[in-house]
Amino acid sequence: MKKLIVALLFSLLASGCSHPAKDKVFEQEFYVFGTVVSLSIYGVDDKQADAAGAEVERMFLQMHHDWHAWQKGALTDINDAIAAGKPIQVHGSLIPLIEKSQEAARLSDNLFNPAIGKLIRLWGFQSSVMPTGPIPTEEAIAKLVAEHPTMADVEIKDGVLTSKNRAVQMDFGGVAKGYAVELALKRLKEMGVNNAIVNAGGGLGVIGQHGDRPWRVGIRSPFNDGVLGSLEVRDGENVHTSGNYERFREWQGKRYSHIIDPRTGWPVQEVVSVTVVYTDGALTDAFTKPFIVGGTREWYDFAKRLHLKDVMVIDTKGTIYMTPEMQKRVHFETPPAKVVVSPPIE
Ligand code: ADP
Ligand code: MG
Repeated sequence: MKKLIVALLFSLLASGCSHPAKDKVFEQEFYVFGTVVSLSIYGVDDKQADAAGAEVERMFLQMHHDWHAWQKGALTDINDAIAAGKPIQVHGSLIPLIEKSQEAARLSDNLFNPAIGKLIRLWGFQSSVMPTGPIPTEEAIAKLVAEHPTMADVEIKDGVLTSKNRAVQMDFGGVAKGYAVELALKRLKEMGVNNAIVNAGGGLGVIGQHGDRPWRVGIRSPFNDGVLGSLEVRDGENVHTSGNYERFREWQGKRYSHIIDPRTGWPVQEVVSVTVVYTDGALTDAFTKPFIVGGTREWYDFAKRLHLKDVMVIDTKGTIYMTPEMQKRVHFETPPAKVVVSPPIE
């Protein structure tokens, strides 16, 4: 584990506090879920921070093993059973992960649809290395779309999962990090850590604050490696940004993003980045998808329907669509060329 310990002098000076250990932000990083997970902890001593970091790393490795759709583990066993038309016992955190995914899928009219694992594999997006070469044929894509797998096909009763549709293959790449962050923060609280950020590559959650100020986090620009802006994140909030700038494949000069419109089976084109701030970690991550898939025409309807007050959508032209609540919170590094602010969300 790469570990950095950063002493934050300003908070020490501001508070005049005589407990230097308590004024440190402990930063720890490890690699899991194909991304860097970083942890910032404030307000505890070295020993507590070390123990908390080790526990969060252990949890992430376990979740990665249990939830991975393509490396042999608990989820691949479930997907194999579904394909074979057999019932299977489901254990532990996979049950709430599946149930939360069902809720997000239902609320988003299946634009968030983690049952489309076969399409994700057809496009080669299950791999940590993006495929090169020709994209799938229209026939192959249409065939999988026609099988119409959704999370509503799946039922869990007394811990036993069955699926009405053998074409369902669950891939939680669009929700797992959000849920992992949520569980990690819950565990940190149990361990006596009340101020922390857990950031799993593009998605994070916070508890407490940073001394006497809220935590402040950056949002990556979808157009370059810089920072688009920053925002203050309050106790219990999650921020997820999802886009097509990190993972995509290219063929004949065209980019195909790793987020698929389940209605057509094709990767989304119009929206390059979506940021959502919300209280539930898993749902924050999942809810970025209906905005990316729905695009600039449908995003506001989804925000209203999902009662999400903090949403920002950026299209390929760089136009930023956002709720007035989000506009109030985001501090842009450089003023964006065009911003379209929606009416408020009830
Ligand atoms: P990351 O947080 O790693 O950037 P995202 O949150 O953007 O990932 O989610 C992208 C992943 O979600 C894809 O790699 C794929 O596994 C999955 N996915 C793609 N399209 C959909 C969809 N329409 N609904 C649910 N999950 C999807
Ligand atoms: Mg995500």
